[in-house]
Amino acid sequence: MRLIFLGPPGVGKGTQAKRVCGHLGIIHLSTGDILRAEMAADSEIGQKAKSFIDDGELVPDDVLLGIMNNRLKKDDAQKGYLLDGFPRTIPQAEGLDNIMKNLSHTLDGAISLTADEDELVQRLINRGLESDRSDDTPEVIRQRQKVYWNQTAPLLEYYAQKNLLKSVDGLGDIPEITERILGVLN
Ligand code: AMP
Repeated sequence: MRLIFLGPPGVGKGTQAKRVCGHLGIIHLSTGDILRAEMAADSEIGQKAKSFIDDGELVPDDVLLGIMNNRLKKDDAQKGYLLDGFPRTIPQAEGLDNIMKNLSHTLDGAISLTADEDELVQRLINRGLESDRSDDTPEVIRQRQKVYWNQTAPLLEYYAQKNLLKSVDGLGDIPEITERILGVLN
């Protein structure tokens, strides 16, 4: 199974992605995690990404498409994957279509996790008090929400037109939300 997770920052994409991957036996690929690992390693990609991430802006499309083009070719991606945080722009979605076509992979669904924005900002501010993520500060959180609505939300329509969009209410108990997601996949 090959899936995409869409949803505003703080909706719980990472938490749900891990649980859904455990159930389905597919790998979880989070571009946020990949970029944070590159920053920690102080690689060329990490150095390029840092200022964008710290400002709550998107890292340029060509960087992400390069990362995913290499990643989806690997052996462990041939049995299925869940993409968490990618694509985030229309050019990334079009690029992903090409990458998948070249690998003869088909997309089974785009899951949109939904929630009220004020609730999400509060959740992220709370997470910021506990995590060491440099982009979980109130100012950067607001910016990341804005970027989501301007640049990523158009993907909802992109996948709806391909008949791949499945919306799931992202508020509630963690296990309950996982059940809802697995329910729309059946
Ligand atoms: P996340 O962990 O998914 O919230 O991502 C954290 C940050 O990494 C985002 O605010 C962006 O700066 C960057 N990032 C992650 N995925 C992408 C992507 N697909 N395109 C551009 N930037 C990304």
